Amino acid sequence: PEKGSLVLEVDHIRKQFGGLVAVNDISFRVRAGEIVGLIGPNGAGKSTTFNLVSGILPLTSGEVRFLGQRISGRSAREIAQTGMGRTFQHVQLLPEMSVLENVALGAHLRSHVSVPAGILRLDRAREASLLKEAARQLERVGLGAYLHEQAGNLALGQQRLLEIARALAADPVLLLLDEPAAGLRYREKQELAAVLSQLREEGMSILLVEHDMDFVMRLTNHLVVMDFGSWLAEGSPEEIQRHPAVLEAYLGG
Ligand code: ADP
Ligand code: MG
Repeated sequence: PEKGSLVLEVDHIRKQFGGLVAVNDISFRVRAGEIVGLIGPNGAGKSTTFNLVSGILPLTSGEVRFLGQRISGRSAREIAQTGMGRTFQHVQLLPEMSVLENVALGAHLRSHVSVPAGILRLDRAREASLLKEAARQLERVGLGAYLHEQAGNLALGQQRLLEIARALAADPVLLLLDEPAAGLRYREKQELAAVLSQLREEGMSILLVEHDMDFVMRLTNHLVVMDFGSWLAEGSPEEIQRHPAVLEAYLGG
């Protein structure tokens, strides 16, 4: 997509779990080449919003458009195949397998090629191309030196980068990252921020949930603030930093 064009349009989405309204009338946009942050206190509905956008959970109401097409109601797999990649709040890797295999397998499982049931045996050429592509994505996130390391042996910051490489292997135009910096050391956060900035330079759009305010404020172009499931505020990092309602929600006013 052309830089600045609309990639994701979230319109009045709502999710109810029994009597609890976890996401209440949330709307926002993500444009090509932009990093948008979704912030808010614990339980605000950020992860649920990700699950609604990526098709993991069905909407109670509202609409999501991706690259101009209505995607609400489609399966998570279909949505992933149209170019939306994501990571989860908790690391989901195959710890016994190599870094390279983790990415190659992820790319294979999400590939556009439909595999007839029962045939998971890859031909040599297909396997070679998957591994080559996986290595390329790992270089991109700075893990080129760790291809044959067991995934479970990596430091947490490297595991998070590995998950991003796995998402990249499916060639997304939008990445949804749920708390990628949580639990990371200062240096790891710096590395992650550099990788995400570089992806943005290359035209990637990113929607990011993150608690570390320094990280969010330095990295994002635009912020959406949620509180108790509802939209609280929206604006540039500078605007949000001095927004009275946001200060009150965070500082307990
Ligand atoms: P955040 O990611 O902002 O911390 P979540 O989206 O995880 O918040 O949760 C929002 C609210 O919805 C919380 O009150 C949480 O307990 C509730 N919730 C999340 N997922 C479910 C679920 N599958 N069933 C019932 N309640 C849920
Ligand atoms: Mg969450």
